[in-house]
Amino acid sequence: MTYQVLARKWRPKNFGELVGQEHVLRTLGHALDKERLHHAYLFTGTRGVGKTTIARILAKCLNCEQGISSVPCEQCDACIEINNGRFMDLIEVDAASRTKVEDTRELLDNVQYAPSKGRFKVYLIDEVHMLSGHSFNALLKTLEEPPPHVKFLLATTDPQKLPVTILSRCLQFNLKNLSPAKIVDYLQQVLQSEGIDFDEAALWHLAGAAAGSMRDALTLLDQAISFGEGEVREPAVVSLLGTPDQRTVLGLVADLRDRDAASLLETVATVAEHNPDFARLLEQLLSSFHRIATAQLLPDAVDNSQGDRKQILELAAAFSAEDVQLYYQIALNTLQDMNASPDRRMAFEMGLLRMLAFSPEVFHRNPDNMPELVEEEQKKKPTLSSEPEPIPDPAGLAPTPPESTPEPVSRPVPEPGTEPIPEPAQQQSEETPAQAGPLGTEPGTVSDVMAASGEMADEAEADDAAVADEAPAADIRTDSDAGRVGLHELGSRNWWQVVEQLPLSGLSGNVLANCDLQSCVADQLVLVLDEQQSTLYRDEQCALFAELLSEYFGHRVSVRVETATPQSETPAARRQRLRRERAAQALETFAGDPVVRDIMERFSARIVDDSLQYPE
Ligand SMILES: [Zn+2]
Repeated sequence: MTYQVLARKWRPKNFGELVGQEHVLRTLGHALDKERLHHAYLFTGTRGVGKTTIARILAKCLNCEQGISSVPCEQCDACIEINNGRFMDLIEVDAASRTKVEDTRELLDNVQYAPSKGRFKVYLIDEVHMLSGHSFNALLKTLEEPPPHVKFLLATTDPQKLPVTILSRCLQFNLKNLSPAKIVDYLQQVLQSEGIDFDEAALWHLAGAAAGSMRDALTLLDQAISFGEGEVREPAVVSLLGTPDQRTVLGLVADLRDRDAASLLETVATVAEHNPDFARLLEQLLSSFHRIATAQLLPDAVDNSQGDRKQILELAAAFSAEDVQLYYQIALNTLQDMNASPDRRMAFEMGLLRMLAFSPEVFHRNPDNMPELVEEEQKKKPTLSSEPEPIPDPAGLAPTPPESTPEPVSRPVPEPGTEPIPEPAQQQSEETPAQAGPLGTEPGTVSDVMAASGEMADEAEADDAAVADEAPAADIRTDSDAGRVGLHELGSRNWWQVVEQLPLSGLSGNVLANCDLQSCVADQLVLVLDEQQSTLYRDEQCALFAELLSEYFGHRVSVRVETATPQSETPAARRQRLRRERAAQALETFAGDPVVRDIMERFSARIVDDSLQYPE
């Protein structure tokens, strides 16, 4: 049996199965049950929120042999044929591929003929905004005087591009983006029915990345299942998406509350293992501060859309309004400075340390802690205290930050000469060149900090040693540290190497990792995107890939993305294979160890495969 992707398998077949869009379903349900029907419907909304799904269900409601109703029978020929996508009188057109006027004419020429089997002939035109001007005119003529047996169901992500004349003849429904909470609920349901083990935290993660699109969420879930070899666990999902989850973000905020620098940097180190997008992490931090500030003033205004309402309210009670405002401002400045920083993780850590440095209490509690920071702080104190009230709008919810704080707050710390955290050279030199590929390890800024503060240095070194001893891990390290690939030597055998070295994570990184290089001729790269993953692809990603690749090769290249079954192993498939191999190798090494063998013999023990942990 061939594997059916979840997004298709779980596509709702009736209004009852549909998640969200209650406002649309209620209106449509009433209209159907009272048979007050319009001849043209327009569904708008972003990708993957259910436009064509609702249109298909509507077509079934209109054509069910048991009569027009909001609950089609699912038994009659019409219902079954529509479910299987082979109903003669449901004519589906993807306007993106049929933009020419002849196409529309050909399509509309048949409008006058009665439906061959059903009650109505239903035209479902997806991405209708892509039609040409002439095509719109042809369509408009039919919309002006539609035969009674015809219904038009139009769908678009971009209603602004539709002529007013068309808009005014359609009953318009705006579909909303789905909230993370709704997506998590649904994914849970899917996984339970599929009998797949999961962490709920992993699902919040996927829901965040799907950005309101259920179809994207299901496609990502598919990826997560194959990436996690049949289960959906948080660490695997974090490394798949490259975006840390809300719990991690709130963990950082809690460390700030506790003024616990060691724990703060430890959390960053843990997050960094998954090579996250630190800019995205800062944005999440900003959004959390915003939610906390809101909670301080209007607790009821904080929703549970990210599953974190309880923690947000707790944190809101623990912080002063001034601190939250200050942290927001520092995070914002750090985000702006990030591009200028040689290392994003370093910039991120500096931002967090700055938040601690400018929270007065840390010095009262432990004046010997981080002496340089204290010095900095004292140097800057006149500037800060010259303002009687550094934050003029402590309880304010305004997204625009107070004007008086940014300058004194942002400047002092990051200047190279005055950097408060010394960087011991010996650890850095152990690392191969500072390459931050997705599977590589970044130079240990955190361990440096730890070493500097005299804490946990031994542990960090021990960790490093342990990693270096592991043959599989060493193999991985070589992967991303391998030299750059020149444009002239680029081929499908070293394409993965390029992809691993590009500074790209999240959805776009995901899409590129699922692309195989088909050809590279005359500075044009033709990529083949695995069709199983194609729903995540957006046109603008092509330009992004071109830009990053041009930068990488130091030479302007163009990129074309096609969808098909890749002929050779994609970087994503390769990564997955390596993980599997590493797991197998770790198991073999472990099982072959004399001590382990001895234990197994003495106690007739066996090794539980999945209990084995090995360095990523
Ligand atoms: Zn039926």
